[in-house]
Amino acid sequence: MTEKKAGLSDAMKEKLAPRKFVKNPINGTKHTLLISSAKGGVGKSTFAVNIAFALQNIGLKIGILDADVYGPSLPKLIGINEKPQSKDGKFLIPIEKFKAQCMSMGFLVDETTPMIWRGPMVISAVKTMTEKVLWKDLDIIIIDMPPGTGDTQLTFAQQIKVDGAIIVSTPQDLALLDVKRGIEMFDKTGVKILGLVDNMSFFKGDDEKVYNIFGKGGVEETAKKYKKKFLGKIPIHKDIREATDKGVPLTQSNPNHEVSLIFKKIAEIIKQDFQ
Ligand code: ADP
Repeated sequence: MTEKKAGLSDAMKEKLAPRKFVKNPINGTKHTLLISSAKGGVGKSTFAVNIAFALQNIGLKIGILDADVYGPSLPKLIGINEKPQSKDGKFLIPIEKFKAQCMSMGFLVDETTPMIWRGPMVISAVKTMTEKVLWKDLDIIIIDMPPGTGDTQLTFAQQIKVDGAIIVSTPQDLALLDVKRGIEMFDKTGVKILGLVDNMSFFKGDDEKVYNIFGKGGVEETAKKYKKKFLGKIPIHKDIREATDKGVPLTQSNPNHEVSLIFKKIAEIIKQDFQ
């Protein structure tokens, strides 16, 4: 078995080489925050929707853009199954749910349709969702990115005005290797990393005993090593999973839940950073 190496591939390094890009802001929002993970299945989308409503709970007007064109999950996570409308055939009106403005590729295609897209199509879809959606009076738009360091990430990092990114990971070594790659990409493209989040950090049993299922401390150590902020630890909790399966994020349905309060702390850090 070949050993997995940290760091970006040569092809990616070439794509990241200094070039002049015009970074367009997303209209209708004051701030743009990317929620990224270097690896799939670490709970990035779950984090994105929960932090979005945690930000709403502390008074911010929020939008959520699911930029994962290959595997959109927003429709399921917040229970939307209607299609966005357009009044002029050019601009889409975001769908409002729980007072959040939402947009996802998943609203436009059938849930079971496989997304077989090449790079330029992905870039064009990202541009449509950032330039042709009528976001309105938002304080912050939370963007759920696809995992990895691919075309979507590059498009956001190089062509869209982004105020910050949060990287979500589990403490597992395998996930952490990819996190380092993600940090490098954002650093090289000048996207400020607001911090790292340790999701599925631990499990607390009924006996109050703490189980470190995916290992311990790795995300915090990685943050320290790369001089990034460590934003917090989110436990594995049945209530998070159940709430998102129902299409109602925990921070929305139960803002005072012990896990929602962890999200609240992170939301306050984000709010402060954007002031
Ligand atoms: P990603 O966006 O990184 O692919 P998801 O957000 O889809 O990951 O999460 C993967 C699975 O893990 C989902 O079933 C989700 O409900 C569950 N999950 C994510 N975070 C937690 C958590 N902290 N506690 C319990 N389940 C979680």
